[in-house]
Amino acid sequence: MLRIQIYSVQNGKKNGNRLTAEFHRSLYPSHHKNREQQEEQHMTEHVPIVIVGGGLVGLSAAAFIASRGVKPVLIEKHPGSSLHPRAMGYTARTMELFRSIDLEKKIPQIDASFRLRRVKVESMAGKWFEETHWSEARGKDGQKGGKGDHAPSAMPSPCMGAAIAQDRLEPIIRTRALEFGADIRLNTQVTSIEQDDECVTLHLKDRLNRSISSITADYVIAADGHSSPIREALGIKRSGRGHMQTVKSVLFRETNNKLEEYKERGYQQFSIEQPDLKAFVTTYSDGRWVLMYTDDVEREPSAHQGEIRKAVGRDDIDIDIITTGCWDLSALIADTFSSGRIFLVGDSAHQLPPNRGGYGANTGIEDAHNIAWKLVEVLEKRARPELLATYDAERRPIAWLRHDQIFARSDYSYQAGENGKKAITYDDAAMELGQLYRSAAIVGAGSELPPAATPEEWNGQPGTRAPHLYVSMGEDQISTLDLFQKGWVLFCSGEHWKEAAAVNGIPTVDLDTDLRHGEELRRELGINMVGASLIRPDGYIAWRRIGTEAPITETPKYIFPPDSSPGNQLNFARRRRPAENMQGQLWTEYLDQPFPASVLHWVEEMWEQESRLQRGETIPDSPQMTSSPTIDFPSPFQLLEPLRHNQRRSYNGESRFISPRPVVILDKSSPLATSMKYCTVTVKLLDQEGSPLLEDEQDHLFSPQGKQFVLSVAHHRTAPISVKLTGKIELRELRLGFTVVCETNEGETLRFHLTSNAFHLLRDRRPKMRSGVRVSGRGRRGPCCGKTTLLEAIQKLNIGGVNIVFEMARTYIDEKMEQGLSLQEIRKDPWQFQTEVLKRKVELEDELLSDPSHRVILMERGIPDSIAYGAADGGIFPADQLSTRHARENLRDRMWPNQ
Ligand SMILES: Cc1cc2nc3c(=O)[nH]c(=O)nc-3n(C[C@H](O)[C@H](O)[C@H](O)COP(=O)(O)OP(=O)(O)OC[C@H]3O[C@@H](n4cnc5c(N)ncnc54)[C@H](O)[C@@H]3O)c2cc1C
Repeated sequence: MLRIQIYSVQNGKKNGNRLTAEFHRSLYPSHHKNREQQEEQHMTEHVPIVIVGGGLVGLSAAAFIASRGVKPVLIEKHPGSSLHPRAMGYTARTMELFRSIDLEKKIPQIDASFRLRRVKVESMAGKWFEETHWSEARGKDGQKGGKGDHAPSAMPSPCMGAAIAQDRLEPIIRTRALEFGADIRLNTQVTSIEQDDECVTLHLKDRLNRSISSITADYVIAADGHSSPIREALGIKRSGRGHMQTVKSVLFRETNNKLEEYKERGYQQFSIEQPDLKAFVTTYSDGRWVLMYTDDVEREPSAHQGEIRKAVGRDDIDIDIITTGCWDLSALIADTFSSGRIFLVGDSAHQLPPNRGGYGANTGIEDAHNIAWKLVEVLEKRARPELLATYDAERRPIAWLRHDQIFARSDYSYQAGENGKKAITYDDAAMELGQLYRSAAIVGAGSELPPAATPEEWNGQPGTRAPHLYVSMGEDQISTLDLFQKGWVLFCSGEHWKEAAAVNGIPTVDLDTDLRHGEELRRELGINMVGASLIRPDGYIAWRRIGTEAPITETPKYIFPPDSSPGNQLNFARRRRPAENMQGQLWTEYLDQPFPASVLHWVEEMWEQESRLQRGETIPDSPQMTSSPTIDFPSPFQLLEPLRHNQRRSYNGESRFISPRPVVILDKSSPLATSMKYCTVTVKLLDQEGSPLLEDEQDHLFSPQGKQFVLSVAHHRTAPISVKLTGKIELRELRLGFTVVCETNEGETLRFHLTSNAFHLLRDRRPKMRSGVRVSGRGRRGPCCGKTTLLEAIQKLNIGGVNIVFEMARTYIDEKMEQGLSLQEIRKDPWQFQTEVLKRKVELEDELLSDPSHRVILMERGIPDSIAYGAADGGIFPADQLSTRHARENLRDRMWPNQ
């Protein structure tokens, strides 16, 4: 176990105005009550998550996590918020995140027309020079130009930005976190930290009574600020533009509110340009102002009053200095945002200079939201721990994007090198609401996509924030954001999607029936009538299926429970269990549509991941994103007919193939029927839930031709596939899975998945025949007696006068397909289908039998089979005509009249 000592870091000037212990005691009585008792508990306490640092970001993480039902412990060394606020401006995106925990209304939002404006002045009361713009917006042609300081009203969000001093906002978030059940321990300092494969141990010091304790956690969030003792102790380095300046500031109040008049012209920030004073004055809009010295002149504390008057340009103002501060103007990004079970968020992960885009705290609050839902999913066993690796994969590039944007824009261009000046600047709306995530938890964020674009420019691409629209749901008008920022949700229409989502516990919103403006949302999500869009709990699009032109390269990973045995654990392709009687078995399975190809693909992806993990291979953070082929939906491939419910294993020397031999067919009405160049079908064994068996178990599936078969492009079908199961396979319920890979004339490679109905493996060995009487009974009624093999052998002998008639169902289906019907349409009414097939069998047999030139007639799956199915339900046909017994006697009488 690695033990890391954390040294207390003194951050800037020590604040002499801390809350006293007594005041704190009255403010948080429960914190002090039973302190000794709590200490006892701390010694042995284990919690799911510890957050270190109770600044804006740590508190946000606590609120986001607690709102999802996991109670974190937050450790903060100070008694409350710093007296000297720093942040003031919060983006619409931050407010969207706060909206998800019902905080939006508690935080005053800025007027829609508000723009943060800065002007260069000699002094506030003196000469005014030009306005300095934060960014140069791109014109229609993408060139820099124009004013570029965005009015938040232009944002396609239900929220406005907010302007509130950090020390006023922190208590609001803290209260919300406490309401959700977070355990916030102030005056407590983390002094050292250790982690191993199982957990993280934190050693704590109570700064009031000096007692020492420790706590263990499954995961730790380090929100411990830019000098992050945890990051330093972990040895994580930082890169970036680096340290530029140390800035000293004075927080003051002008008692007669005389400074307010300078805001009337619409400016809130003033750059003071005097030969002996370079400074910056801004307001927290609550009566407090701050002066920041941008020069390097050393000043005595007694000089501040005079300097403030110089900056304002007036002597007739009364100044009350509240406190002074000191902070580093630096741009530094941690080289990794996670190490084992510890995750860096906020300034600990990225220190960004203050700017008018508000990249510091806002980026940190988004970090907190990103890691919060992932930790909760993993702790609640809804996701595998690998999901956590996507935190660094998603958030670090955003930090870098913002880092680079700062230097590409006017405010800091003086600090940028030549490269910084050349960098593309993204629109503010793109930076706030339109950044793109790429990670293993996003599928289909193509490499051609830009790192950010405005919400209007996006069209539901995976990796982007799902769009905001006002929609009507029942009587209420809500923002779409309210539908998806709390958990996973699938936007779709149609039962097949709902079924697939339901087995994973993913709620669905039916765009046709649940919403009144579903069509508009469908357009925004970039999907069509049969498409679907899967939205993550942070409101980002994880994956989508457009519909007729759906990208289907990959599907999201890591969102289901981890376990070594995918067959047992992937509770994914669960189907209705076959009914008890034979009719139930037949019809339920017969009607069961294959799962959407994408979902099966998903299962397969997960299975591959599981297998690789089991083999001890590491899984890369981000999957390879290949170009997106397009396919039709539903899958145009089908199994010609279901497998029999009972199958047998094949012992050495035996050839008991799975029956009937599966035939994969392509729907002739599909566009693929004319554009397919080459197609192969690979078969594998699935468990009863539809998840592939482990690789070594796949060896129990055997075919003399291997496991890959060609699907004839001319005939739109495979030959019957001969596969058998070895005698060593355990007796259980199984399915066959078929992966169809085809190449189109246009050079695209498409992949589809089919799954068969479930079948039982019944017995160990061929039943013994005693005195010519077959042993039968429940569990011993396998229909396989090798007759297909026998018939094929007889056919090969080519004996004159011997007629062999194969599979009337196949002939019937082919005939109907020639007439333009799809397989679904042919099988839509199962009763009608089976009746038709049986009628034809009877007619054919009658016809053959009525001709005396036909000496021997051998039927594969003739009347007795159909009768058996029909009879199981009391008979499709009148029992006196076509009961099994009647049919057999009838046939025997006709074929062997003298016996
Ligand atoms: C002048 C100025 C203006 C700014 N304006 C904006 C703005 O308008 N918008 C914006 O988005 N950003 C702004 N920022 C940036 C913003 O203030 C920071 O990004 C943000 O405060 C970082 O929050 P944090 O929670 O990550 O870190 P902090 O606020 O630094 O919190 C870290 C906490 O961890 C605690 N801690 C540290 N070590 C330990 C330990 N060992 N044990 C227990 N607790 C510990 C500390 O006491 C502290 O409370 C501004 C910054 C400056 C300097």
